[in-house]
Amino acid sequence: MAKATTTLRQVLNYHPQHAAWFAATRALFNQVAAFYFEVITAHQSVLALSNQEALTALETLTHATKEHPTPIMPLAEIAEHVPAMFRRAAIHAALGSARSFSTHLAKWRARKEQAQAKGKKFTERPPVPPRTWNKSPTLYAGQWKERTETSILLKLWTGTCWSWIKVRITGRALPADVKTGSPSLIRRGNHWWLHTPLEKRFRSPPTIEQQVTTNTATTICAVDLNLNEQLAVCTIQTVEGTILATTFIGGGRAIAGFRKQLLGRIARNRRKTGIIAEGEQDNVHLWRKINNVDDSLAHLVSARIVQFAKQHEATIVVFEHLGTLKPTRGKYSHRGNSKRAFWMKGRIFMYAKYKAYNEGMLTSRVSPRHTSRECARCHRLVARYAEGQPAEGYTPGAPLVFCPECGMRGNADRNASLVIGQRLITRYQKPSQGKPQAPLRVERGEQSPGVAVCQDAKCEEGPSLPQARHADRNEHGTAHETDAGMDASISAIPHPLRFPWES
Ligand SMILES: [Zn+2]
Repeated sequence: MAKATTTLRQVLNYHPQHAAWFAATRALFNQVAAFYFEVITAHQSVLALSNQEALTALETLTHATKEHPTPIMPLAEIAEHVPAMFRRAAIHAALGSARSFSTHLAKWRARKEQAQAKGKKFTERPPVPPRTWNKSPTLYAGQWKERTETSILLKLWTGTCWSWIKVRITGRALPADVKTGSPSLIRRGNHWWLHTPLEKRFRSPPTIEQQVTTNTATTICAVDLNLNEQLAVCTIQTVEGTILATTFIGGGRAIAGFRKQLLGRIARNRRKTGIIAEGEQDNVHLWRKINNVDDSLAHLVSARIVQFAKQHEATIVVFEHLGTLKPTRGKYSHRGNSKRAFWMKGRIFMYAKYKAYNEGMLTSRVSPRHTSRECARCHRLVARYAEGQPAEGYTPGAPLVFCPECGMRGNADRNASLVIGQRLITRYQKPSQGKPQAPLRVERGEQSPGVAVCQDAKCEEGPSLPQARHADRNEHGTAHETDAGMDASISAIPHPLRFPWES
């Protein structure tokens, strides 16, 4: 069985005076966790135990019972009447931090020894134990009860005693088919939220190799991520090569314009203030704004990709590797913009990966080498050009492709996306060769809106393909793809993305 976890985030509605109780509960939780971190530091052997054994050992060290009336490091000295379940949640938080710290320390020691063995100078600072504790309290059973769609009873520390309060919950309801974990109290700004981990269990999907080699009906969603208007172009194809659907996910120009404006403002601010202090972040507010918008867009695009894949019952989502970011010239806002657009591609992949997994789909990546230059039908070199230009040569980023060999015409990004999908299939079908691959069949009545104007795509691409790789000319079919819909206007693209700033 495989499992996928997500978090359900719900807003709590409470009497304003109770906000202090949430804060007190959080402070106490961190106080107890910090205490246990010290106990673990004094008893390192605990770290060799399993979490359950470590819990028992730590309780014996700190909690008075009939059998152990005088613990060595009593918790009661720092906080009295801590409920058992609250204590256990804090112990697990402390154990997590201690294990992480100990791993980092061990790795640092290994690096130091390695450097010293080679006679190199080692200047890296050792990891330090947490100086402040800012954990969010996890509420184990016993700390909450009577949870319904709209309310929950929470046991909170008021600063002087423990008290049950009823709070109203708003937000998404708990889904029916999932296992819920212990909720946590999260502070966001000045407001308190309840985050509940949700666990979904499902049959583990077969490996990509199994799916591709044993089932010809396996459906793949191939994604070409871009820096131009079409942030993502997705195609659905079967292992046999039948193309079933295409979608374009736009919004690239709007995000680029928005980012450029903010980056320009940052550059102007910097000019005004002169030298930036080292190690100090300037224009914090603007940077956060850019970051938030990039992040929400990455979520939107990845969700759309996975939704499209699911809708067509794809079981594998394939991307190309990102490659490296080639520096671009130009103004600060331009350079910064392309850098951030590049990072966003990474984020889209990362988010799509876990969103796809939650739907039982696997994700893979293939080599990005010349995916835009290869014909998806006959695998020879394509001409890439803009509308109104002759269909020859290769203009990086131009929206249209034409294959002089087989006559294929179409959208350049869509062609690249098809090539990406084919690469995954070839990887498993002919492990010794890689390519070339069987020609694609004619698409079944598919509509793919083209892109009219986008000049600035993929400008970081390398030089053209050596002709020698395409010497194997005459073995492939010449089926012609219908050009229907290829020139549809950009407004025909379904479901344009809504941006966070255009509410
Ligand atoms: Zn061709």
